[in-house]
Amino acid sequence: MPDMTELEVFDKFAQIIAKSLRIDAAQVTPDTHLTDLGAESLDLIEITMETETQFHIFLPDKSILETAVEVFGPDVLEKDGYLTEAGKRLMLCRMPEADAPAFQGQVAVKDLQHYFLKVSTWVRLIQGLAQYTPDACAACGGPMVASMGFRMKCAKCGQEITLRSGEELNREWVREYYDREYRPQAEAPVSAVAVQ
Ligand SMILES: [Zn+2]
Repeated sequence: MPDMTELEVFDKFAQIIAKSLRIDAAQVTPDTHLTDLGAESLDLIEITMETETQFHIFLPDKSILETAVEVFGPDVLEKDGYLTEAGKRLMLCRMPEADAPAFQGQVAVKDLQHYFLKVSTWVRLIQGLAQYTPDACAACGGPMVASMGFRMKCAKCGQEITLRSGEELNREWVREYYDREYRPQAEAPVSAVAVQ
C-alpha cells in the first residue's frame, strides 16, 4: 500500500496495539511508547506479526542501530554503552528533525531501546516499508493479495512477488550511508597527508 498517509498508518496501527493490549485505541498517541502502554515481549511479538499481516510488510528483527553496528564494526558507532559522535550523526541522518533532541548530549544505547518502541517510530517504519508493497500487479494491473509467507500474489494472473525485508532495506541504507557520508569523512585526514 504505497499511498497510505502517516495518519492512515497511525490509525490502523493504533487499532492493532489496542486490540493486542486490550486497551482503548484513544490511549495510543504518536508520542507514547509501547512499553508504557503495558506491552511486554510477547505482546511485542504479537503486535509485530499482526502489523506484518495487516500492512503486508516484513518488519526488521533488529533496530537500524544494531544493523549499522554490524556494518561499521565495533566501537565506531557506539563505545562503552554510549553513542559516539559518528553514531549520533548516523541516527540524526536517519531520524526525523523532531526527534533530534533524543540524540544530543550523552546518549546511552540502552535508552535507545525505549526510543525504538515509540509509536511514531513504528509508524514511520511501517509507512517506509509499505512503499515496497505494491497494490497492483506489475504484469496485468490486477489486485495483489497476501500469499504464503512474505509473498503477494496477483488475484488475476497469479504472478507472485516476494516482499523486501525490512532488515535487507535497512542494511542497504546503512551501506549507502557508509559509502556516501562516513567513509569520505573517515578517510579525509589520510588523503590530506598524502597530498603534502
Ligand atoms: Zn497480474
